[in-house]
Amino acid sequence: MESSSLPFGKKFSPTTKKYREFHRKSITDTEGFWDREARRLEWFRPWDKVLEWEPPFARWFVGGLLNASYLCVDRHVKTWRRSKVALYWEDEAGNARTWSYSQLYAEVNRFASVLRKLNVRKGDRVAMYMPLIPELPITMLATARIGAIHTVVFSGFSAQALADRINSTQAKVLVTADGGFRRGKLIPLKEKADVAIERTPSVESAVVVNRANIDIDMKDGRDFWYHEQLKKAESYVEPLPIESNDPLYILYTSGTTGKPKGIVHSTGGYMVFNHSAYKWAFDIRDESVYWCTADIGWVTGHSSIVYAPLSHAATLVLYEGTPDYPNPDRWWEIIDKYGVTIFYTSPTAIRMLMRYGEEWPKKHSLSSLETLGTVGEPINPEAWSWYYKNIGKERCPIVDTWWQTETGGFMISPAPGIELVPLKPGSATLPLPGIDAEVVDEKGKPVLSGVKGHLVIKKPWPGMLMTLYQDPKRYKEAYWSRFPGVFYTGDYAIRDTDGYLWLLGRADEVLKVAGHRIGTMELESAAVSYPAVSEAAAIGKPHEVKGESIVVFAILRKGHEPTDKLKKELREHVRKVIGPVATPQEIYFVNSLPKTRSGKIMRRVLKSVLMGKSIGDLSTLEDEASVKEVKKAYEELKKLVKAGS
Ligand code: ATP
Ligand code: MG
Repeated sequence: MESSSLPFGKKFSPTTKKYREFHRKSITDTEGFWDREARRLEWFRPWDKVLEWEPPFARWFVGGLLNASYLCVDRHVKTWRRSKVALYWEDEAGNARTWSYSQLYAEVNRFASVLRKLNVRKGDRVAMYMPLIPELPITMLATARIGAIHTVVFSGFSAQALADRINSTQAKVLVTADGGFRRGKLIPLKEKADVAIERTPSVESAVVVNRANIDIDMKDGRDFWYHEQLKKAESYVEPLPIESNDPLYILYTSGTTGKPKGIVHSTGGYMVFNHSAYKWAFDIRDESVYWCTADIGWVTGHSSIVYAPLSHAATLVLYEGTPDYPNPDRWWEIIDKYGVTIFYTSPTAIRMLMRYGEEWPKKHSLSSLETLGTVGEPINPEAWSWYYKNIGKERCPIVDTWWQTETGGFMISPAPGIELVPLKPGSATLPLPGIDAEVVDEKGKPVLSGVKGHLVIKKPWPGMLMTLYQDPKRYKEAYWSRFPGVFYTGDYAIRDTDGYLWLLGRADEVLKVAGHRIGTMELESAAVSYPAVSEAAAIGKPHEVKGESIVVFAILRKGHEPTDKLKKELREHVRKVIGPVATPQEIYFVNSLPKTRSGKIMRRVLKSVLMGKSIGDLSTLEDEASVKEVKKAYEELKKLVKAGS
């Protein structure tokens, strides 16, 4: 984590001067800066005031009227872009569909009409429980078009998790599909939705996309086929002018740390922020072909598949499937097929693909790629280098974007759209324009460079959450109470002497070993830098003397056998990388780790296993398949822990 610039960084840009100057200006006069950025969008009525800040509640572009659906489709069909490809969609089996912007526009309008006929009005909530198919973004845009609020529930969630979210938002309509596919297996979505609807009195009707062509129950008067309703719909629905601070959507966080929070995002601030941040980070151009592998059920999908790219009339790839099915080169095949220029994925996916070896990407040219991106967790330098070398062929910068469901869009990231600063593997580099980030100690005082502290945001920004749905008290407590007046991210970070930020994972996942604070991320990164290890999770176990002792769970790369010798070597390696205080007390080799479906390790589950506690309620966090995975890992670990003690 030294401040040296790496050689490949120099290749992209010798300096950070232009960028730093741009950033400095943007946070000196923040309101003036966002006022200018907001003009990049088309408004039906301009705002009276850029910001009304009554901490911790911000209102951006007050009085301004706009419509997110208008910005994502209408604006483009008025130009040559009406014939431009909006979406290339493909599934695991290789079935493909293509949508131009005019097709997208037509269907968004028709579906908006369907929703109106189902009595959806401004401010009503519409829930979505759909696979990764074009009808999902279409439904989101149609909802936004009529001023309703969408709440997308990840289709991997259980019926109960869906019911909980619908009950919390009191959604009137649920849009779903008969089924979806994952690793060649049919997921009976409508069946699960039916169970949920039994428990959600607010749902008046359900619209069902025929995705899987399977027999399902359709309840008369309540359930409607998507395609049948479209036929009866009007071809044009006026996009409703929406006040900038009317909510666009509610989305629940992935729930790594506990009960998911219902994050509410605005329309104006959210769109302005995402439109700009996306351009800065990915330098999107008309000829770009952009692929973000996230599911639309997460914030990454909302901002970085739907709203930001479509507001730029980008050409997107949507892939309904997992990276290694039917083969570990499925993704590389798709990149070549569509000539993807910008590829955005997560460190966990990279590590998984790394495990299969570099012969898989070698089968493909990948020559269209220009920029790579990552999001979701800190990327360990090993995965960074593998990605850089084997996918980007040492030609493509890696844009490491740090952000959260709460922040709405990218906060800390390289910005090739302005000036690509030298990269350092594992650092998300510098805050984006308009973002005033700081690393502070427990008392809220800025720390010196090289010292670990809490990442906070000192000024409101347009993409920030408005509140937690119907829970302003928790909003205040969770984000604005720890350090009064500043936004608490909950993540640990270090700023190096170049001002680069290194994200170290969540503050509540820091181990306290003999008076030292060690991040799980630091430990995991050290473990993964050992050649035989592809993935690792570190947790703390109470220790009488040291406070906590370090326990590491590691997955080995293909071709390595779990032996005591390997354990010893790995222990030595971690000790060498971080220091004697970081020596793992216990190491377990496992085949899988409990994760959320967004790919994040659920360390609290591992901890419960070690402590012999029950793993707690997983129903609100996990889909059924991953609960099984978690349980399997749990049993496996229990046996190992028993054998080890
Ligand atoms: P919950 O808040 O319910 O526990 P979550 O934090 O996993 O869920 P998200 O909002 O999807 O839900 O994830 C945001 C978090 O992911 C960040 O706070 C950070 O810990 C991590 N993260 C995201 N991107 C990066 C990145 N580029 N580098 C480091 N960490 C990242
Ligand atoms: Mg979080």
